[in-house]
Amino acid sequence: MMADDRVLLPLAAATRPLYAGVDLGGTNIKAALVDDAGSLLAFHTEPTHVSRGPEDAAARMGRSVHTLASLAGIATADIARVGLGSPGPLDIPNGTIVRAGNLPGWDDFPLRDRVAAHSGREVTFANDANAAGYGEFWVGSAKEASSLVLLTLGTGVGGGIIIGDVNVEGAHSHGSECGHILVDPAPTARMCPCGQPGHLEAYTSATSLKAMARERIAAGATGSLAAAVAGGEELTPILVAREAERGDALATDVLMEVARWLGIGIVTLMHAIDPETVLIGGAMTFGREANPVGRMFLERVKDEVHRRTFPVLAERTSIRYASLGGDAGSIGAAGLARLDHRRKHG
Ligand SMILES: [Zn+2]
Repeated sequence: MMADDRVLLPLAAATRPLYAGVDLGGTNIKAALVDDAGSLLAFHTEPTHVSRGPEDAAARMGRSVHTLASLAGIATADIARVGLGSPGPLDIPNGTIVRAGNLPGWDDFPLRDRVAAHSGREVTFANDANAAGYGEFWVGSAKEASSLVLLTLGTGVGGGIIIGDVNVEGAHSHGSECGHILVDPAPTARMCPCGQPGHLEAYTSATSLKAMARERIAAGATGSLAAAVAGGEELTPILVAREAERGDALATDVLMEVARWLGIGIVTLMHAIDPETVLIGGAMTFGREANPVGRMFLERVKDEVHRRTFPVLAERTSIRYASLGGDAGSIGAAGLARLDHRRKHG
């Protein structure tokens, strides 16, 4: 057993059928075996090794399904279906990645079908952020909600929109791309990694938080965050949060700036979808509601939303942090496999 392998719910306590979910990331492949109620039976993770190419990774994703089965003490054939969450944009009907920034050279590779061949199971293919959204909807922070928007703030900004067990994939597999909604049409807008200026991701990712802090330090901002960076500490969301908690003005300002833009983006999503719940997940959750910085960030987001929306929406829409962390994508991919299995087998 590898160090990251985990066995959780005992097999005897599981509700069948069982499903596997695989979350493909630029750094790691995470795989979860869950039961029909969404409880975790086993978890396995290994490096993606992007440079070895997609066929090598597809083989290891297939093997990870067999590994989950052996961790839980079942045959792979006892897994009803596999869900695969992948960075997009995707061509979901064709089961291919169209163009993923962190998986260079993987374009147009038949990922879904190769993972199916290597695992020996049928595969449901989904955008990774949608899969994470479904995980939160099924067993996470939005378990009681009938509809959900999830924004995952990491290196980029992912979006998942789930409405009554429907994962919004869109007509061209570009549904729920919440990171690319337009929040700033001004000529001075920040550039999004997708190549267009003014998108939400350009203002609310961990990458943009770091860029904003760096720009202010370069413009002469001082204080404990600037001193820590000058002293060689790596500029990360965790460092910014630590210094904000100590009362550093620069750290607090950039966090509040990110929260303001996030609130602006959330208002547009609320007006388009009117979800019951909006969740914030990913690397930028700052210890969530349990931490003073997490609370301050969330309050600033809500404050911006309240200023810009209808009173009824502001009052009734729940905006809070996601709860599944890094497991949301693999659990949610398994959940989407479960939906497909139920559609096909009743
Ligand atoms: Zn963009």
